[in-house]
Amino acid sequence: MVIKVRIDQEKCIACGLCYGMCPDVFEADDNGKSRLIEKYRTTSKTEGEVPDTLKSCVEDAKNGCPVGAIEIE
Ligand code: SF4
Repeated sequence: MVIKVRIDQEKCIACGLCYGMCPDVFEADDNGKSRLIEKYRTTSKTEGEVPDTLKSCVEDAKNGCPVGAIEIE
């Protein structure tokens, strides 16, 4: 099973919480904004699929993001 993850870089304020909290899934781009690590990307650097073994860390990042820039389904 996989979880679909999408990061809205328009909303992202580069706070660092998600990639600090869940570095197996998220990383910073050159501007400090969040993107997915390469192996989980599908259509772009900010959209992809993550194994559900990482679900709790992705959910914690989603819930902790101060601007609601992370969506999962
Ligand atoms: S937690 Fe939200 S605002 Fe902070 S870096 Fe991640 S996506 Fe951007």
